[in-house]
Amino acid sequence: MRKLASIQKISKLEPIEGANSIVKATVLGWQLVVKKGEFNEGDLCVYCEIDSILPERPEFEFLKPRKMRIRTIKLRGQISQGICFPLSILPEGTEIEEGKDVTEILGITKYEPPIPANLEGVAKGRFPSFIPKTDEPRVQIMQDVLDKYKGETFFYTEKLDGSSATFYYNDGEFGVCSRNLELLETEENTQWKLARKYKVEEKFKGLNKNMAIQGEVIGENVQSNKYNLRGQDIYFFNAYDIDEHRFLNLDEFEEFFKKMELKTVPLLEKNYKLSNNIEELVELATGKSVLNNIQREGIVLRPVKEIVDNTGRISFKAINPKFLLKYDD
Ligand code: AMP
Ligand code: MN
Repeated sequence: MRKLASIQKISKLEPIEGANSIVKATVLGWQLVVKKGEFNEGDLCVYCEIDSILPERPEFEFLKPRKMRIRTIKLRGQISQGICFPLSILPEGTEIEEGKDVTEILGITKYEPPIPANLEGVAKGRFPSFIPKTDEPRVQIMQDVLDKYKGETFFYTEKLDGSSATFYYNDGEFGVCSRNLELLETEENTQWKLARKYKVEEKFKGLNKNMAIQGEVIGENVQSNKYNLRGQDIYFFNAYDIDEHRFLNLDEFEEFFKKMELKTVPLLEKNYKLSNNIEELVELATGKSVLNNIQREGIVLRPVKEIVDNTGRISFKAINPKFLLKYDD
């Protein structure tokens, strides 16, 4: 589980033009609005990320109209992501240590968008243990990684706002999964429909390889169909070699999906020298979708040659704040 709430330092406090009672704070790579005078630069606080659902408690009462969920908001022209609380919201006796995860101590959970029945499907079993689940950490918590790989050649793709599907072929067995489960084949299930439409099983059979592919399902009934599609479609972002336990590198990835005749997520830039400036990366994420004339959700950045280090696979997302302000519903 990702840290939704943790003890963090307020690294910077800056005035907001035209505002007297609020100031802009920087925590990790996030920028948010705090009350003037509540904190000093260098103070520790409890920082809660966007998409945290807070429990009902008097201190969190102000979130009730927003169903207790922390969202991206804009105050006096300043985008604000997350909330800083004083350390006093922690239970007495909690050990205070910068970076400490307090998500569970506070009973905070993550907001998950509702999944419509056609995508939820019928569970056949658990998600296969031999394939990594889809997930991308946020750039705002990646400062150390950015410092480490600054200047390396990365590529980035458009992040699509849908729901992920995984298809695999392993020792002669074909499987279809949602983000968290393996699914039973049914007539109506969207992931299975797409597998049949694109003949994924047949295509896998021709490979003579144990492989998994992962993509984003978008369209009607998915996340309010921002892309205005008829029916559903899928755009792939991962190709995983099950036997070699590795994701294909960009060049292999492109060749692979060309051969499979399957669409990939829009490849926006193949030769990007990684910056370690989080604000710059968030700026890079801002722009229109390639699929439709709407704000894109963001981008996903990866090295052109896969890297797995002690923090795991190097791959992360930068979300377009304009998308969050418009669609965070
Ligand atoms: P989130 O949607 O915020 O949970 O971010 C992670 C998810 O983004 C992954 O699990 C994928 O389902 C999805 N996703 C959409 N577009 C992409 C992309 N271009 N690259 C990687 N993941 C993507
Ligand atoms: Mn998503």
